[in-house]
Amino acid sequence: MSISQLARSIRESATLKLNETAALLRDKGEPVIHLGGGEPKSKAPIDAIINMTSLAHTGEIRYTPPDGIIPLKKAIIRYTEERYKRTVHADNVLVSGGAKQAVMCFLHSILDPKDEVIIPAPYWVSYPEMVKLAGGVPVIVKPEDGTFHPTLREIAEACGHYTKAVVVNSPNNPSGIMFTKGFIAEIVEFCAKKGLYLLMDDIYNRLVFDGKTAPVCYDYSTQDVDNSKIVVINGVSKMYAMTGFRIGWAIASVPLIETMAIIQSQQTSGPAAVSQWAAVGALNGVQSSVENLRVTLENNRNIMIERLQAFEGVKVVKPDGTFYCFPDFSAYEKDSQKLADFLLEKVRVVAVPGKEFGFEGHLRLSYCGAVKDITEGIERIKWALDPNSPNEIYLGERKLVRDWL
Ligand code: PMP
Repeated sequence: MSISQLARSIRESATLKLNETAALLRDKGEPVIHLGGGEPKSKAPIDAIINMTSLAHTGEIRYTPPDGIIPLKKAIIRYTEERYKRTVHADNVLVSGGAKQAVMCFLHSILDPKDEVIIPAPYWVSYPEMVKLAGGVPVIVKPEDGTFHPTLREIAEACGHYTKAVVVNSPNNPSGIMFTKGFIAEIVEFCAKKGLYLLMDDIYNRLVFDGKTAPVCYDYSTQDVDNSKIVVINGVSKMYAMTGFRIGWAIASVPLIETMAIIQSQQTSGPAAVSQWAAVGALNGVQSSVENLRVTLENNRNIMIERLQAFEGVKVVKPDGTFYCFPDFSAYEKDSQKLADFLLEKVRVVAVPGKEFGFEGHLRLSYCGAVKDITEGIERIKWALDPNSPNEIYLGERKLVRDWL
């Protein structure tokens, strides 16, 4: 079989692969605890379900405009005005098959061969592969001070002749930290001055803890949306727990959105009609589910962080948002893939190796599941790694006896 060079250069999504592995093990009756997940476990808002089923019941589910149905664009415009204090128009909005497709259309729209995109590490696993898919070159910037927060100087130093865009994802997957207002202000100004696109992936911006709020990029921009190279990405996947609906969007200048819409029209046409109507329901309906989810996640974060802080040798930074944390396990094992494989094999806990996010020695642990899974998952990890732990542990009915350390 002949496979293209491009296809051969793209790596499988580590997180989706882990979901598959966990599902296969569960099917076999293995007592797996999945701390590698990337989706909330709450139900989709009732208004989303009502809207979706109303359309489904008509039996007339048709193509939609490639850039999204007008009622959804209107809901997104209102959302943008409310949360970003910016007036945008229907032509500034592209509705896509998940935030992922919006990012992909953006990259396809701006990148020529050799063009570079700056991606601060740790980063969402998909960004580098998506940049490569679009023919570009990912340039990873790892904070020198060992934190998860990039500085403008580091980003500026990585910029060269071929730099086209900078990606900012805050609150951040996988670290859960939120970049400071000062940094957002600086990066907005820097990109505007340099004529670079600034991709603001805001998909977690409602899932923020401790009374904080996520900085809004437009607050630091003197340009209106049509004169600016800022592209804001968001979607219903995380805040409404609607990952399976596959609805995300981009807000940008009219010419860029037009280009992205042409690309999307040739790739997939408009997103699924029932999903778009569900998203209209979620955005226009009762909003309590977002706050309920946020509070649940904050509580889960507290539980996970408390357990990890009591774990000798593990260093953890308290997340400001999302449903991930990114502890440093290098005192136990520097190779994060080895560590993740070991934990899955020995104690059936799924965690994502830090190397997938450009940070060795760490594991990404999710707290979007049940509290019981969080506490038992960390207990199992501790048992597996801590030489002082007792020799036996029960996984469900099964007694495990240590044959290592
Ligand atoms: N951006 C980030 C930072 C993410 O973590 C994810 C999902 N893991 C996405 C975008 C994609 O979201 P969607 O499901 O809407 O495609």
